[in-house]
Amino acid sequence: MKQLLILSGKGGTGKTTLASAFIRFSQARAYADCDVDAPNLHLVMGHDNEPEKKDYYGLPKAVIDQSLCINCDLCRSHCRFNAITAEEGYSVDPFACEGCGVCHFLCPAGAITMKDVPAGEMMLYKNKEVFSTARLIMGSGNSGLLVTEVKKAMKETGKSELAIIDGSPGIGCPVIASLSGVDFVLIVAEPSLSGISDMKRIIKTAALQGVETAVCINKYDLSLENTRHIEELCGELGVHFIGKIPFDPLALEVVNSGRTIADIQCPSGKGARYVFNELMALMEKKNLINLIVKGAVHE
Ligand code: SF4
Ligand code: SF4
Repeated sequence: MKQLLILSGKGGTGKTTLASAFIRFSQARAYADCDVDAPNLHLVMGHDNEPEKKDYYGLPKAVIDQSLCINCDLCRSHCRFNAITAEEGYSVDPFACEGCGVCHFLCPAGAITMKDVPAGEMMLYKNKEVFSTARLIMGSGNSGLLVTEVKKAMKETGKSELAIIDGSPGIGCPVIASLSGVDFVLIVAEPSLSGISDMKRIIKTAALQGVETAVCINKYDLSLENTRHIEELCGELGVHFIGKIPFDPLALEVVNSGRTIADIQCPSGKGARYVFNELMALMEKKNLINLIVKGAVHE
């Protein structure tokens, strides 16, 4: 299974819109949504069946038994995350606790235990296709670990020549977890100054992970000047530039109705198809896909 990851340096670039179209074009039988803070790929992929659900436990949280506490202050003074307060007895703020266990190790009274608490929920849709997704509980950390679990579930259960992963926005921990082990990255850039800056950061992040990268621009006609700048930048950075998709008011309407831009005739769908074909040709050149997927491309 070859894994294609779709990323953008920030939210709102149309990453999920493109990912859902690519899943349709490729007829991928395995895909995942790694935007665990705000998953939304399930809204357009139309799964009627109930997913298999399971709680996700991240790092444990410290809990203090005040009846055992001797008020030595060791825990509070050594907590690097300022998660312990001494107001009305010693207690832990579960949202600030990172589960490092230092307080548990230091407590001379055995008053601190580390408890597993659910940090999110994993969902696996299984029918002809496997779709792995998850939702992190608000305020929980460890989104990178959850992303790793989402990808693992997709890989272990799915059987597909090509798997498509909708990555997390930004360049933080979940993105780095998304990048781990994938074969190719497509960056969806936006023709704005902040979009260019985000694109440069994500290219660098992908390069540090040693993953080959291509760039496309969504809503390119909103700024032809910035679009030109992005194309030039890709040339300078040695990153494949594989096409641009026009701004299309229909795209939002289609996605809001629970469909993908590949499901109807529209300018953005046409642009996405072009980008997809270019990407598949590039991946084929790199020996990352075979004729099964190629057949889906040139249907
Ligand atoms: S486990 Fe670590 S982060 Fe949590 S309260 Fe203890 S020292 Fe602080
Ligand atoms: S280290 Fe243990 S005994 Fe000391 S203040 Fe913290 S909970 Fe209480």
